[in-house]
Amino acid sequence: MSEKKILLSGSRPTGRQHLGNYVGALKQWLELQDECDCYFMVADWHALTNSYNDTSSLPENTRLQTIDWLSTGLDPEKSTIFVQSAIKEHAELSLLLGMFTPLGLAERCTSWKDQVIEQGNEVLRTYGFLGYPVLQSADILMYQANIVPVGKDQVEHIEKTQDIAQKVNVRYGDVFQIPEWRLSHSPALLGNDGRKMSKSYGNCIYLAENDKEVWEKIRVMVTDPARVRKTDPGDPEKCSVWDYHKVFTPKDRWDEIQTNCKTAGWGCMECKKVLNEAVKAELDPMRERRAKIEEKPGYWKEVLEHGNGVARNRARETMARVREKLHLYPGDSQ
Ligand code: SF4
Repeated sequence: MSEKKILLSGSRPTGRQHLGNYVGALKQWLELQDECDCYFMVADWHALTNSYNDTSSLPENTRLQTIDWLSTGLDPEKSTIFVQSAIKEHAELSLLLGMFTPLGLAERCTSWKDQVIEQGNEVLRTYGFLGYPVLQSADILMYQANIVPVGKDQVEHIEKTQDIAQKVNVRYGDVFQIPEWRLSHSPALLGNDGRKMSKSYGNCIYLAENDKEVWEKIRVMVTDPARVRKTDPGDPEKCSVWDYHKVFTPKDRWDEIQTNCKTAGWGCMECKKVLNEAVKAELDPMRERRAKIEEKPGYWKEVLEHGNGVARNRARETMARVREKLHLYPGDSQ
């Protein structure tokens, strides 16, 4: 039996991954894949909770996302990379956890309150959207995960998972491992127009883009608005380029960047060229890996099918335990 802690994370299949995805999740996954027994999930059922009217992009988005994950260095020999909908036990466990979930707990979810109650979004007034935190709890508890890496806005979901798991454990004995969250230590990156990074704004830098495409986006990146002329001193803390430097540029250049900005020792274009080199150094190994992956067109699918098999075995073990503890009919997966 592995002594490593179990980690569960995932994301909805949104297709090509951008630097925001890399910094917000993938970079941390890479750091943890040696330390933990990792399960990384393509959360395709979650994609339906707020986008159920047109699912036609799911297959291609799953392919692109998986290739990008592998290109960053996620290693299927070390980690289990799988598709949520291939493991039907997630639906079963979600149903059972729903029995233990007070309505108030689901309705307190920030996205439900923001989007359905405050903004009156009728499209999202569905049982599926209200229940997605329960499905998320099922995803985590299915693998008896010890650690769930999250951004600050996701902590509430892990707290809900803890509440639900504890409620089951108190009544039926040790059914579930109580998971802990681990906060991502990287700052969220803004898009190159200074707004939240989002595909719909067209302001993302994608991992699969070439040098020229990346430079075109860095070149026009919004900087400190007070720095109108090259001779105006700037303030890195008011500039999103500096946020990128803190993630990608080696620390031994930070003083030089800050000093040159504050004293108008260089223009923003020179500063952006330094950033461009640093981003290139991060993306080049991914480009090499992607080229090898794309030489074998079916490889990404083999990775998922292997991962699905590993995840399914683990899920079946958990569900056998859950059914036994809850005095349910054993089912055919025992
Ligand atoms: S010099 Fe660099 S950190 Fe300063 S405002 Fe320009 S781009 Fe931003």
